[in-house]
Amino acid sequence: MTGCLFCRIAGGEIPSTVVQQDDRFYAFRDIDPKAPVHVLAIPREHIASLNDVRGVDQVGGLLLFARDVARSLGLSERGYRVVLNTNADGGQTVFHLHVHVLGGRAMQWPPG
Ligand code: AMP
Ligand code: ZN
Repeated sequence: MTGCLFCRIAGGEIPSTVVQQDDRFYAFRDIDPKAPVHVLAIPREHIASLNDVRGVDQVGGLLLFARDVARSLGLSERGYRVVLNTNADGGQTVFHLHVHVLGGRAMQWPPG
């Protein structure tokens, strides 16, 4: 979508540090990391938030892609956290569906 930051990142218009990509999904380093490993996984298709997901394949595919990213970064055995913020109370600031993959340290619970 024109003007969407993450559409422009996935399209290569705005630079990012790519971690993994395929024809449907794109993963890149978060610009303001909250853990030693902090990667964002997004669909190439513009979907504003989880509220706008139409089918199980869109979000299921994204989750499996995030799982594969975590595996390729060596996080699988020790563990990692996948976070999906939705709208204002959820802390969403970029309105293109994305999951945060956080790892490299023990996470706390509950999140803030
Ligand atoms: P959220 O608050 O869940 O919408 O997450 C948006 C994330 O995008 C934040 O963690 C930001 O640090 C990250 N972010 C914003 N702009 C960029 C960018 N240009 N490159 C990489 N990550 C970004
Ligand atoms: Zn977008």
